Formats: sequence, C-alpha cells, structure tokens
Amino acid sequence: MITQDLFYALACLRRGELVGLPTETVYGLAGNAFDRQVVSQIFEAKNRPHFDPLIVHTDRLEKIFDFVEYMPPKAQLLAQKFWAGAITLVLPRKPIIPDLVTSGLETVAVRIPNHSLALRVLAALDFPLAAPSANPFGYVSPTQAQHVEDQLGIKIGCVLDGGNCEIGIESTIVGFENEQALIYRQGGITVEQIEAVIGKVQAQPHSSSQPKAAGMLASHYSPKKPFFIGHIPFLLEKYHKQKIGVLSFEKNYGFERQIILSEKGNLAEAAQRLFWAMRELDSMDIELIISELVPEMGLGRAINDRLRRAGAEKE
Ligand code: AMP
Ligand code: MG
Repeated sequence: MITQDLFYALACLRRGELVGLPTETVYGLAGNAFDRQVVSQIFEAKNRPHFDPLIVHTDRLEKIFDFVEYMPPKAQLLAQKFWAGAITLVLPRKPIIPDLVTSGLETVAVRIPNHSLALRVLAALDFPLAAPSANPFGYVSPTQAQHVEDQLGIKIGCVLDGGNCEIGIESTIVGFENEQALIYRQGGITVEQIEAVIGKVQAQPHSSSQPKAAGMLASHYSPKKPFFIGHIPFLLEKYHKQKIGVLSFEKNYGFERQIILSEKGNLAEAAQRLFWAMRELDSMDIELIISELVPEMGLGRAINDRLRRAGAEKE
C-alpha cells in the first residue's frame, strides 16, 4: 500500500517490515540494517543474489561511527561536500553490521540521502536502514511510489510516497583502496564534481564476473523488451519490420512511439526521466526498444552506463 503517513512507515520499520523509501536518487527497499532477519527479507523480496551487498542509510555523520570503523581523509572531504546527497562511500565496517549486508566484505557502503521524508524517517529510528533500489533484481530502478507498489507491494509493509525522485538515477559509489579514491559506480554526483574536491580519481571499468558495486553485472537496469543502442536512424532502418519504440536524448525522430528524454538537451532532466521512460516503453505495445547514448560528460556518464547495461546481453 502507498501511504504518506510517516508514522505508519516508522511503525512498519520498527516491527521488522520492509518499506519503500523515497530518496532523491531512486526509491529504496528499506529495512533495519542491524537485523539479519530483516536484511534477509530484503534479498528475498528483490530476488537479489547474496553476493551483491547493500547500501546502509543514515541521517547524520555522527551516527555513521555506530557501524563504521574509520573514514579516510578523502572520504571525510567528500562527505562534507556532498552529504546529504547522491554519493555512497564504501568504508571499513564495525561487526554490528551483519555479514549479509556486506556480502561478507570488511567494508560497508554508506549514504546520507537528500530527501526530507527519508531524513525524517532515519532521524526517528535508532537503527540505520539497509536499502537497495526497490525493484526486482536486474530490472529498472523505481522513481515513483507506484513503481514500487506495482512490483513489490505485496511483499512489504508500505511504500512511503515522496513524489518523483529528483535525480532519478542511483548514487555514485566511491571506495578507498590504499587511500586512493576509486569510483565503483557512476551516479548522481559526477566525476567532475568529485575531482573538484579530491583531485584525480579512477573509475573502475565494468566487470561482469566479480561485481564489486551495484549493477556491475553486464545486464542490469534492464527493461524486459529487447533494448538496442546505436545510431537511431540506422536502427530504425534495420528493425523497420518490427514494432519499435524509440528512446532518444533530445531529438524528435518523428516516430509515433517515442520518448524524448530532454528536448532541451539537459542531462539532469534526462537522468530524472530515464527509468520512467524505460518503464513506459516496456509497457507499450511494441516488440523492441531502440535508443542512443547521450553526451559522455557530467551526468551523461551515469546515464550512458545505465543505457549500455540495459542494452547488454542478458547473462
Ligand atoms: P543498489 O542499492 O541496488 O543500487 O545497490 C547498492 C550497490 O552498492 C550494490 O550493488 C553493491 O555492489 C554496492 N556496494 C555495497 N556495499 C559495497 C561494498 N562494501 N563494496 C563495494 N560495493 C558495495
Ligand atoms: Mg539496484
């Protein structure tokens, strides 16, 4: 059920149920991060493999030290600059975090989300919330309460309605290896923004066999319909015998079943609409979706990462 009642959502969480939690990135599937049983329900509800660890959410930096051992200097700088916000930091964990949360890793991924409802929920609880994106594993992340309700509604206590997610794609995940920052997943805070604070950082290339960060599997964030990326006029020609849906960046190809991500060519708007657009196209009476990449800069990197993975062969 979808609710705007914060106290109802809190009651669900306190009795060990899962809640669809609005954040500025995407909706999370939240539960008590200190309770192994609850965390286990999160994996089950999403059908998520246990090797894919969860992000733990809290509302204040001080609280992080309840479950994090230490923050390297660069992590402190990023936290000061971007929290509350769309960046997740991977930090050494304390034993209070169940192994299941971190897939047995000695680090835990942590974020303070920038959404007033999420922050009020987190402030009222005496435990942090483990919350992966609230979608069945491998499918497109949810950016509206209804998306969560449609796919996971019967498995959870409630979905707290916080409107449309403002950023629309997941957080950027940053880890620290030998005090060097490494971007595990591109997301809502751009490489350019991060480098302006801590200097040059490395972005980890994808690996499909050893997923270290979310969606590292080649096929992820993926609609159910076949999804092809390339030069749209070429793809239109190639697949002209089939019922096609088009997902374009800014250009109108004059196609009947087409969604334009941002007519102004604005990457933030494109990010915000991306997962909604994939879901819309998935529900249309079409056989396949064709799409194109956006400019590879700023938020465009995170958008292209999602597009490429939506288009990757299913494993
Ligand atoms: P999701 O919330 O579904 O976007 O997924 C969160 C992602 O954070 C997961 O896919 C993880 O791979 C990544 N993550 C969580 N914990 C760690 C960790 N300790 N080290 C590296 N990546 C992590
Ligand atoms: Mg996810």
